[in-house]
Amino acid sequence: MEEMISKVLIDQDTIKKRVSELGQQITNDYRGKELLVIGIFKGAVPFLADLIREIKIPLKYDFMAVSSYGSSAVSSGAGRSLKDLDTSVEDYHVLIVEDIVDTGLTLKYLKENLARRHPLSLKIATLLDKPDRRRVEISPDYCGFTIPNEFVVGYGLDYDEKFRNLPYIGVLKAEVYKK
Ligand code: 5GP
Repeated sequence: MEEMISKVLIDQDTIKKRVSELGQQITNDYRGKELLVIGIFKGAVPFLADLIREIKIPLKYDFMAVSSYGSSAVSSGAGRSLKDLDTSVEDYHVLIVEDIVDTGLTLKYLKENLARRHPLSLKIATLLDKPDRRRVEISPDYCGFTIPNEFVVGYGLDYDEKFRNLPYIGVLKAEVYKK
């Protein structure tokens, strides 16, 4: 698998340190509050798993899955929920945990969808942010790293459902896409 990576963008130690910092920040910001962390399938799973263990206050977590956008859906900005929450959010401060914010369409949809359920508050934590590609105005409240406009894999992020298990964020060799 490693031989298919052309460049390591963010190594394992750097991710670990930054996730720990975010965990501390979230711990301080949510102390005394009922926190519900919502992970977005599938890419956010490794980030969520590491992040929640750096948050030192009681919390609950749940998952949502949304469809990826077809070309027509991109222009409408609509998304589709494929797996909904098991819990109601009304009594919780909700923190959405995502792998990457790219165009912002996924999070815009999710934010609007969750806001309609009236959580006590609603914020976004993302491991990566690619602001160059943004199509809608959305900015994460907690962000691990801002990255340039490159397609990245690893630490939950896939190409063709693979490479999610790489422990770092990397860029694939061009030949991988040609196969
Ligand atoms: P958005 O709706 O913000 O455009 O896209 C969010 C989703 O697109 C992410 O959750 C992720 O699944 C996918 N995505 C965006 N950029 C990348 C990237 O560089 N690499 C991978 N593997 N997926 C990406």
